[in-house]
Amino acid sequence: MANPEDNQVRKVVIVGGGSAGWMTAAALSSLLSPRAVETALVESDAIGTVGVGEATIPDIINFNALLGIDEAEFLKATNGTFKLGIEFVNWSRLGESYFHPFGTHGADMQGIDFHQFWMRTKAGDPQSRLEDYSLCSAAAMKDKFCLPQNDPRSVLSQIRYAYHFDATAYARFLRDYAEKRGVKRQEGKIESVAQNAENGFIESVTLDNGTTIEGDLFIDCSGFRGLLQEETLDVPYRDWSHWLPCDTAQAVACERSGPLLPYTRSTATEAGWRWRIPTQHRTGNGQIYSSAYMDDDAARQSLLDGLDGKPLGEPRKIKFRTGCRERFWEKNCVAIGLSGGFLEPLESTSLYLIQEGISKLISLFPTADMPAIVQQQYNSLLTKKFEQVRDFIILHYKATERDDSPFWNYCRTMDVPDSLKERWELFEQAGRVFRFEDELFSKTSWIAVFIGQNIIPRTVDPIASSVELPAIERSLASMKGAIAQAAERMPTHEAFIRRYAPSGI
Ligand SMILES: Cc1cc2nc3c(=O)[nH]c(=O)nc-3n(C[C@H](O)[C@H](O)[C@H](O)COP(=O)(O)OP(=O)(O)OC[C@H]3O[C@@H](n4cnc5c(N)ncnc54)[C@H](O)[C@@H]3O)c2cc1C
Repeated sequence: MANPEDNQVRKVVIVGGGSAGWMTAAALSSLLSPRAVETALVESDAIGTVGVGEATIPDIINFNALLGIDEAEFLKATNGTFKLGIEFVNWSRLGESYFHPFGTHGADMQGIDFHQFWMRTKAGDPQSRLEDYSLCSAAAMKDKFCLPQNDPRSVLSQIRYAYHFDATAYARFLRDYAEKRGVKRQEGKIESVAQNAENGFIESVTLDNGTTIEGDLFIDCSGFRGLLQEETLDVPYRDWSHWLPCDTAQAVACERSGPLLPYTRSTATEAGWRWRIPTQHRTGNGQIYSSAYMDDDAARQSLLDGLDGKPLGEPRKIKFRTGCRERFWEKNCVAIGLSGGFLEPLESTSLYLIQEGISKLISLFPTADMPAIVQQQYNSLLTKKFEQVRDFIILHYKATERDDSPFWNYCRTMDVPDSLKERWELFEQAGRVFRFEDELFSKTSWIAVFIGQNIIPRTVDPIASSVELPAIERSLASMKGAIAQAAERMPTHEAFIRRYAPSGI
């Protein structure tokens, strides 16, 4: 029998040192035994990183916990702030907004989803907003924050949060972490990639200074260009731009002004949307747009017009193509980060998808012969993840009543994937949302966006319908009151950060 030792991955080479590269390096250095598997990372200061990616979703807390990262230390090092959700402005109609919170809305009753009861009261109270029943939303609107309490009887247990931070500082923080745990960083530009003549496996990369780095498993974290996955292994890309037509961003930071907000704001504009991400030292801003419907000058102007403070530099333009690789894992190479695919940051999902790429890689960590079944499993899991996030993002564009520009007319009338059609129909006809196994977005998320974008179910659950309306109204009034009071009592986000994790800037 062959010695299993001969079939071990002994060396992993990560190509790229952006968020994807350093997240991967940090996770591998923490979870694989450095004695058994050596990890090297190659990055080029001359090429640099994409330098954006500053808003996250709560799953990042699990990533940090897995690595044993101290939250306050992490926030101080990255100028981080807390995020309770996203405010969407002008998405359904001009002048309207809604909040997509991380926590839940209200409390389910008799096993029936909360929104069913809320819908019953809505008829008699058209001004009622679903988000009045979310603590994250109520706190966000008052610029308040505190950490969740463990006691499930406390309304404060309903807080769920994520972070905003400086993307460059984040990569630096993870680099320190990974290097302390044995990851060897190599600076230089990769000029050539050598493949095995028989099976096409990547054998080594060679830098502009002549250094050659060999490996058994290569992780392509080289950004949009996909140095290994696209340029070397020629893996095709699934293009989803007919569903998500934005293809360009311009980003600029500005001086902070006003209170430190604990949420991201996304404002729909004439041909895309603008983000605003508050960190401790500045506010990150960007305009995402479709170049078919808006030119660069108009996008730049829209970005600058929407700033809360003085710009800190010139807007930077970034081109992208929405979609993902047909295969994330090919031969002995796994694409993680922008090299594997990109979905615009409307729901801050890219770092999460990187996390998923890493965790699935660790749970399927291969032998050196890279079994085909392992690759297939990985590819199907990651493809599903991308498709689920894609559908959720498309919903924001499609469920609009805006008809004030050719871009919104296109989005409102475009065809959407069948998987989204089914979900939409189920919600509109029957008010139901089902969450598939291992799916990222919760029922709360789907319901927040459906209702926020004015997709209101035609029917109410029969059990919720059979409960006396005054009893429902009393329960809802009590929940709303408890939430408003709890939000009122919290410290401001600014005061909380100043005490808990001041970055010193
Ligand atoms: C406009 C925009 C906004 C975004 N906002 C968010 C957000 O709010 N939240 C979120 O989760 N995500 C967001 N993202 C996505 C997020 O920025 C990326 O997922 C994340 O930064 C990972 O990028 P990366 O590491 O894959 O690529 P990059 O940061 O581009 O890193 C690529 C690395 O590869 C190296 N490299 C490339 N070629 C070579 C070579 N030949 N030799 C050596 N090294 C090489 C580079 O030097 C660099 O180190 C956003 C993306 C864009 C475009």
